[in-house]
Amino acid sequence: MNVVWFKRDLRIEDHEALLEASRRGPVLPLYILEPGLWKQPDVSQRHWVFLNDCLHELNASLKDLGQPLIIKRGGAVEVLEELYQRHTIKALWSHQETWNAWTYERDKAVKQWCRTKHVPWHEPSQNGVIRRLRDRDGWAGRWYGQMKKPVLDSPVALQSIQETSDTLPSAAELGLPVDALGSLQEGGRREGLKLLQGFLSERGEAYTKEMSTPVTAFESCSRLSAHLAFGTISVREAFQASEWRSQEIKRMPRGMKGKWPSALRSFSGRLRWHCHFIQKLEDEPRIEFENMHPAYDGLRDSGFNEIFFEAWKAGKTGYPMVDACMRALSATGWLNFRMRAMLMSFSSYHLWLHWRQPALHLAKLFTDYEPGIHYSQVQMQSGTTGINAIRIYNPIKQGIDQDPEGTFIRQWIPELCDMDQSFIHTPWLAKSQMADYPMPVVDEKTARKAAAGKIYGLRKNNTSHKAVAQEIVNKHGSRKSGLPRAAGRKARKDNKQEELPL
Ligand SMILES: Cc1cc2nc3c(=O)[nH]c(=O)nc-3n(C[C@H](O)[C@H](O)[C@H](O)COP(=O)(O)OP(=O)(O)OC[C@H]3O[C@@H](n4cnc5c(N)ncnc54)[C@H](O)[C@@H]3O)c2cc1C
Repeated sequence: MNVVWFKRDLRIEDHEALLEASRRGPVLPLYILEPGLWKQPDVSQRHWVFLNDCLHELNASLKDLGQPLIIKRGGAVEVLEELYQRHTIKALWSHQETWNAWTYERDKAVKQWCRTKHVPWHEPSQNGVIRRLRDRDGWAGRWYGQMKKPVLDSPVALQSIQETSDTLPSAAELGLPVDALGSLQEGGRREGLKLLQGFLSERGEAYTKEMSTPVTAFESCSRLSAHLAFGTISVREAFQASEWRSQEIKRMPRGMKGKWPSALRSFSGRLRWHCHFIQKLEDEPRIEFENMHPAYDGLRDSGFNEIFFEAWKAGKTGYPMVDACMRALSATGWLNFRMRAMLMSFSSYHLWLHWRQPALHLAKLFTDYEPGIHYSQVQMQSGTTGINAIRIYNPIKQGIDQDPEGTFIRQWIPELCDMDQSFIHTPWLAKSQMADYPMPVVDEKTARKAAAGKIYGLRKNNTSHKAVAQEIVNKHGSRKSGLPRAAGRKARKDNKQEELPL
């Protein structure tokens, strides 16, 4: 038999590993529940809850094909060895995975096991991330090539194999701390498809305008991130659905198109970013732990302020927009891009905290935690890539711009519920109305200026900064070439915002 190891690809459609294995005979569809993974500092109960939904549906789909999902508890090598003792394994199939350092090491151990047992391991790619990439030139063109390939059908049927499945442990059995969850997104492919369809047909029209403010973003963004992270939907499926919708909009008379053309262009561009950022971690796994640009080593390494960190985590910094965002994220597992960037920027600049601990905290809160995107973005918003413009978000300005009425703030900070409208973004100026909401942990302007001084000072005084930054751009930077013409114009604009050799 062939073993198909499901990892971050919890679907049966557009699943090359499953389809190819099924063409070669009986298939054992396997999910390995690895207790070691669930002990890592970047996973949490909400990931577990979402995963359970996904596995439940995946099992039902596989059952319909004739062979349910086999769940095994244990280390991957241990589980494979146990199966090997009882079955003749022709080959192991799984999609390439770019995840955290733990899964990277585990894959190396599995590779070694496969070598020893002479079991070939086939790992097709499931997105636009390229293994052993030599050169970033032409990457975008290759990404388009991958996205344009036909979406694969699920196998028609699977032969049944005699094998028992373990039961899924509870979150408590895995030792996962109880999560203060309010309303978490539902997992599973059915829900993912519903989101995709709803976004492309209705919700997404004002996406470009409404994605930045948390007042509208929860509804106007696609909300597909957790599904893409767990693979209930492939990036290619999302891309092709968006392309199909673009064609439909193109055929409409001029006055009927509304804001769709821009919304779909932005969405499709972000699907490319999804892979673009994961590619960085694939090419340089150390960025999970270390600054992308070494000039920043030591910058924030001493004097980690635990009091600031606790205030930030609890949504009690005294800055309403920061606190509302943190509380909303803790309760729902999601936040829009700009507000994620503001949270990270506040932690790294105003509070001057090294990015690693805050990154782990956010990883646990984001249901869609995707290490490749996460660590690249964390470093970008902390100024340690050396190739991005420094962006220090002023949380008061963000509040005024993105939540002028204070609707979002009042929703998540009940202490400010009765605050006068004029002081909702600066409650410390109306102390009598503050209830038990805290005073600011730092003075915004002073902290921002101090951070800017340190980071610009470092760039200015480090003579090799520019040369090293150029090397980083060569390795990781997005390129213009290789894109179709329409996408190329937009990408050029994106590149300007995204990666600049300084
Ligand atoms: C500090 C920080 C950490 C982040 N960590 C993660 C993470 O762990 N997982 C994650 O999926 N996204 C992460 N993002 C990127 C982004 O915020 C989310 O992808 C987005 O908010 C998800 O919502 P959505 O699915 O509605 O996105 P949409 O706006 O509808 O976009 C569609 C898809 O495009 C991709 N995408 C969107 N924006 C980006 C981006 N800036 N970079 C890369 N891909 C993008 C996502 O896969 C997303 O699902 C992070 C951003 C920041 C600033």
